[in-house]
Amino acid sequence: MTALVLEKIGKCYPNHIQAVQDFSLSVEEGEFIVIVGPSGCGKSTLLRMIAGLEEISCGELYIHGQPMKDVRPQDRDLAMVFQTPALYPHLSVYDNIGIGMRGKFPLQELDCRIRDTADILEISELLMQKPNTLSGGQKQRVALGRAIVRNASILLFDEPLSSLDARLRVQMRSEIMALHEKLQSTIIYVTHDHTEAMTMASRIVVMKNGRIMQVGTPDEIYEEPANTFTAHFMGTVGMNFLEGMYHDRKLSVCGRNIDLPASVHKVLRPYEGKVIFLGIRPENLHIEREAILKKDGFSYHVHSVEYLGHECILHGRIGENPTDTMVYAPFSTSYKDELVLTIDMDKIHFFDIETEQKII
Ligand code: ADP
Repeated sequence: MTALVLEKIGKCYPNHIQAVQDFSLSVEEGEFIVIVGPSGCGKSTLLRMIAGLEEISCGELYIHGQPMKDVRPQDRDLAMVFQTPALYPHLSVYDNIGIGMRGKFPLQELDCRIRDTADILEISELLMQKPNTLSGGQKQRVALGRAIVRNASILLFDEPLSSLDARLRVQMRSEIMALHEKLQSTIIYVTHDHTEAMTMASRIVVMKNGRIMQVGTPDEIYEEPANTFTAHFMGTVGMNFLEGMYHDRKLSVCGRNIDLPASVHKVLRPYEGKVIFLGIRPENLHIEREAILKKDGFSYHVHSVEYLGHECILHGRIGENPTDTMVYAPFSTSYKDELVLTIDMDKIHFFDIETEQKII
């Protein structure tokens, strides 16, 4: 069954900022949707409109098939977890979890719900403690508890891990995934962190300037990016783009004419004589140590190296190409090294240089 339908949703703030535009999405029951995009792209506005905390300027929102136009936030079947866990310092964990539910259930039922929630989150032993005795991760778990105790079928997360340190973020990621597995609730999760999106989502929605750039599974988003924005944004090191002229079934790129796989020519025919982007992920560029130009190799001038331990990220230029190309190298290399680089031709993408949309 469909949990949520957003139909051409838009938001224009009184200062005329168009924060969200023409946003349409259908979310099935139990899906884990991650909305990802850079800061200011409209993610939080969208989430707040779903929660009923922000008025929708145009379009329709349906939850379980019901239009939400006149439904108050507290009457929607959802709960929200915010970026910073706003806990009451003078209340125990027990009371912090139950605070929003007082008076809504008989005390005994509320007690059961709070204890069940604490069980699910494995914080039962903390119930009598005050927030100032908790670690960052424990505080965020209590904030999760406050959402879970409502028993809502839809959970909205607004960058819930961004205030935690890197190690804790990794741990909480897997805890939230396990929670989703346990509760089987529908989750809409907003983040600017592509790794959170890739690791947690059943489907990702990539946003830019208030608009959807692409919707797909993590695999589809990574392997088949629909535009240069998604290709570059999704990935620890984004996709590289090289300008090339398509002519006579070859691509002239970085001073060389390269043969292309037979499968691409039909689609590239309208681009005969035109410049297009060749997109290639760093892991699909291969580095050779010897500065001997192989038949299919490009000369690559390294100008900086990020040493990560198990590998290095190299920043450098291919031939005379004006922009940097990033490559992973399994070995350490020093500044200003000259290397040879080959392209895995089975992994290349092509984008229209003007529309920035994928060609193939
Ligand atoms: P994100 O969550 O992706 O960082 P936001 O939804 O917070 O983005 O903001 C989207 C755009 O709307 C930004 O340009 C932001 O400055 C603007 N904006 C957000 N809230 C308001 C507001 N209450 N009034 C006016 N403009 C706002």
